[in-house]
Amino acid sequence: SHSSSEIKKLFNDSTYFKNFNKKNAVSTDVGLFSNKLITSPEGLYKFYKLYLYKCQHLLKIIHQDQSNKADTLFIQRIDNLSNNLCKVIDLCEMVRSLHPNEQYVNMANQIYDEMFEFMNILNTDIILYNNLNRVMKNKDRLNLDEEETIVGQILLDDFNKSGLFMNDDKIKDQFITISSQISQLGQEFVISGQEPPFDEQNNDSIWEVSLEQLKKSLPETVYDNLPMKKTNYLFKNPDKIKLNKNNFFLLYQINKYSSNEELRKKTWAYMNMSNGDQISKLSTLLKLRLRLANLLNEKNFNSYQLKNKLIGNSDNVKLLLTNLVKDFKPEATKELAVLADDKTSKVNAWDKEYLQQKNLKLNCVPQLKLNLGSVMSELFYLLSKLYSLKFVVKPMSAKETWCESVRKVEIYDTKTDKIKGLLYLDLFHRDYKTPNASHFTVTTSKKLNDQEIVYEKEDINATCIISDNVQLPIIVINTSIYDPNSISKSDMDTIFHEMGHAMHSILSLTKLQNCSGTRCVADFVELPSILMELFSSDPKVLANVIGGENTDIKLPKENFKALEMIQQIKLSLLDYKFHQATKESDLDEEKLITTYHNLEKEVDILPDTVTNWFGKFGHLFGYGSSYYTYILDRIIAIKIYEKLFSKNPYNSVSGELLKDNLLKYGGSRSPWECLADVFDNKELIKGDKKAIEYI
Ligand SMILES: [Zn+2]
Repeated sequence: SHSSSEIKKLFNDSTYFKNFNKKNAVSTDVGLFSNKLITSPEGLYKFYKLYLYKCQHLLKIIHQDQSNKADTLFIQRIDNLSNNLCKVIDLCEMVRSLHPNEQYVNMANQIYDEMFEFMNILNTDIILYNNLNRVMKNKDRLNLDEEETIVGQILLDDFNKSGLFMNDDKIKDQFITISSQISQLGQEFVISGQEPPFDEQNNDSIWEVSLEQLKKSLPETVYDNLPMKKTNYLFKNPDKIKLNKNNFFLLYQINKYSSNEELRKKTWAYMNMSNGDQISKLSTLLKLRLRLANLLNEKNFNSYQLKNKLIGNSDNVKLLLTNLVKDFKPEATKELAVLADDKTSKVNAWDKEYLQQKNLKLNCVPQLKLNLGSVMSELFYLLSKLYSLKFVVKPMSAKETWCESVRKVEIYDTKTDKIKGLLYLDLFHRDYKTPNASHFTVTTSKKLNDQEIVYEKEDINATCIISDNVQLPIIVINTSIYDPNSISKSDMDTIFHEMGHAMHSILSLTKLQNCSGTRCVADFVELPSILMELFSSDPKVLANVIGGENTDIKLPKENFKALEMIQQIKLSLLDYKFHQATKESDLDEEKLITTYHNLEKEVDILPDTVTNWFGKFGHLFGYGSSYYTYILDRIIAIKIYEKLFSKNPYNSVSGELLKDNLLKYGGSRSPWECLADVFDNKELIKGDKKAIEYI
């Protein structure tokens, strides 16, 4: 294992890292991820063809086996098939997001499209569907274990959600038509939400404002630098100037700096307005979703979406969110009072930026000076304490990686000294790679069955390492750091967050890949990553990153945490309310606007009773009924942190407890059962109203 000063150099000093690679890399003729085939884009294509053939072969076995054990083996075989499918798809997903070579990216896209065709064949395979139905009906007689039952149910739900196998042809046709309308309209809604809200053709975008007033209310430097022609006077009204309501930057400057409340209110409203078409699109979208739910005998879209989730049903979403408003409102009100000039007056939404800018005390929060090496060194130290792991940075030959700045880390279990997984860290900014932080599971962790072991060991072309009959997870983490010697606290949070996902994959030990690590219910998946963010803000952890022995460091207090939380709760409530409607007439355009304004008034923190902002809220389509996910996971993470780590973030007993009761299961066990064990509270198993109130 490395010393902490060596880790710092390996991440902060690119020359040192280059030499480390050059000196130590074993120069055998390997390819990407040590896969011998992938030394060129054509090699990637060969790899795909080989695996496609493998998948087709596995499908044939499933189709043709008429023996007694066929049903018993069915789910394992399907999982084996999707494991091989994922090895190609997940690798291509990573290549097309991160690879700097355009030919590789094009090849990955081509393979993606071709693989999609094969997936379509699988998704419409009536034999698979019928077999799966029979297996699930006989699951007790077949002695399926919990993991197989969970995966079988997920697969069956996916089949049913596609609507392709409905008995009633008329309903089936309707279902398919509505589904495709929803997906088309939804994408339109998201894309056009980014367009300027005001029509430039019919002068709707022109705002006439008094130049005198503007000048008087703004600091001179701000006024001088406003992006507008100050000579653009109006003929009839020489004092007025024409401004463009679509110029977001201009509006923002005025909103932030103008001492004139009327101007602040106007600019704020223009910034938050959405195009009228957006509301009409949303109204149609929500009505289609309601119709789809009704078609499947559900009373609304929420009850259709929330069935097999951690949260259970829409009543629980409502309960959770209304309780949270009560919890966070007092603190948010206090934060607003800090902002307000005169402590008794209420702060309006359009005054927030202005007051924040004026309040010098709040602006003087010292920025932490961090470097990547110290952050990584502390992160490895923390995780090694918590989960008995060892992190070893490994030299790589140029062929094994897609970019020379990628660091490869091998992770070992210190109790058994066996390797647990591989981590490739692509942490630095590059043009043409996705700027959003992300993680890619190139191969999942999975205990192999006898049949697979024979199969995999014969295969010298796999991106797959087997240790102790376990297929080792290979994880890529992607962030966009500009300078390793100066990174922000939020960069650090991001790295910790993505590492949380990676640990979920690495510590998971399931028999089936369909429920390995992060492949768990959608509203549970952010829990391990948000938990890591809490470690990232722990004073003890931060002190280690900043000063080593110097523990007397004043950490900047984070402002407006409760206000941020209230904002997220409001968005979740809106998502809940829009998808809770049971009558189409409640989803007319005016009704949506009323619902939005009423909700804002009810919560009553920086209320918006003026605009139709939600027309820009694209997540209403993407999340649809599930926007509460982030908040739910955050609340649970905070609760876990308080119980297990707030006294000592390096507590290995707590780490072990979290690993053995939650992380190692991935999606192979009911999340409420995991939480019941973590909190040592049997009541939680039911995941009912009481459980929601507890968390
Ligand atoms: Zn995440």
